[in-house]
Amino acid sequence: MLKLKLHWQILIALVLAVIAGSLTGMDSTLLGVRLYDVYAFFGTLFLNALKMIIVPLIVSSIIVGIAGIGGSHGLARMGGRTILYYMVTSLFAILLGLFFVNLLSPGIIDGMPAQEVLGLDGELAAQASAKVGEKGVGDIPGVFLSMVPPNVVAAAANGQMLGLIFFSLLFGFFMTRITEDYAEVQFNFWEGVYETMMRITDWVMLFAPIGVFALVAKVVTGLGGGQLAEMMQSLGLFALTVLLALAAHVFIVLPLLLKVVARVRPTRHFQAMAPALLTAFSTASSSATLPLTMDCVEKNAGVSNRTSSFVLPLGATVNMDGTALYECVAAMFIAQAYGLELSFATQFTIVLIALLTSIGVAGIPAASLVAITIILSAIGLPVEALGLILAVDRILDMFRTSVNVFSDSCGAVIIGKLEGEQDILTGAPQDAEASRS
Ligand code: ASP
Repeated sequence: MLKLKLHWQILIALVLAVIAGSLTGMDSTLLGVRLYDVYAFFGTLFLNALKMIIVPLIVSSIIVGIAGIGGSHGLARMGGRTILYYMVTSLFAILLGLFFVNLLSPGIIDGMPAQEVLGLDGELAAQASAKVGEKGVGDIPGVFLSMVPPNVVAAAANGQMLGLIFFSLLFGFFMTRITEDYAEVQFNFWEGVYETMMRITDWVMLFAPIGVFALVAKVVTGLGGGQLAEMMQSLGLFALTVLLALAAHVFIVLPLLLKVVARVRPTRHFQAMAPALLTAFSTASSSATLPLTMDCVEKNAGVSNRTSSFVLPLGATVNMDGTALYECVAAMFIAQAYGLELSFATQFTIVLIALLTSIGVAGIPAASLVAITIILSAIGLPVEALGLILAVDRILDMFRTSVNVFSDSCGAVIIGKLEGEQDILTGAPQDAEASRS
């Protein structure tokens, strides 16, 4: 029987979804059921299944990984490298965005601020405020406060990943400081949970083609026929700027890092990560993609669980290159469209806030919007101006989320290599057991 690789299945599902979605109207029905609702149902089912895995997978994987590192010295070294990688790549991404937005000036049409041409639609502006309200605040002290959750069970229930990660790090670390008998029982238990969660992930991924089809068909249906063309006319240059900058980051900067620092062939790494990247693209959520990112990094790229369990959950929460880049381009675009004078100080403020807020942005769809409002207030623009970009946000979200996930995966490979791992990207996919050190 012909068995297509998972990433081909997902890719085909994606193409079919675009076709099906564009043939489906908002009110099309099949046997009396609205097709849009059918897509929404299966899409949500798939997303729920992915989210269901996250808490036990992250907790067990971090505990096992950290307990395996042993000694505070190894942990400090890996932590330092990881944070350095995150900061440097996010900054690179933002600077690329800044370069392209200054080069193409999407907010200026025929030498005039584009505000009037684009015409800030009242309804979109209202939608913008409502959307932002849903996402909660992403302020900087808030990020640090959420790192130490007053109640870990509540943190897990509310998906506060940073709190959960911090607690799991502590648990894994102190597990190695107790009596050996107890430590062994603990270790075996968490290792078992982790193995089981990986198996569940594999099983859920069998349904990825259906889930991806439903999610993408829903987005395309929602866009409506003429809307896309109309939107692209007014916001095309903005979207193009974002896409060019993202492409430069993902096809030039990150591959260079892979090649120079980790001595890994970039094409090989793209191949290894394909299922995760396509899932990130269709879900627009790096958190929901995390189980798959871990699976691909360990099984296809050969990074040890020790490294990936530290780098990836943290990365899915704090390292968002695509998001940081997008925040910068979006804020600059709105500022250009409003005819704001873009002095060095203003641009510096934008870069700095984009870097800091990208850490606090949650790995869920449209989460960047909150961070952009923070930048807009900081440079003195009304939050409603966000309405300008809302129309294209969802599509760009799919691209930036893939970039977020790709950067995390490159981080895992690079840190793994620096930690001296030998199994990275050697030959055929291997099972997680063999790649664990
Ligand atoms: N959707 C993005 C993610 O999950 C976050 C964002 O930029 O909105 O990575």
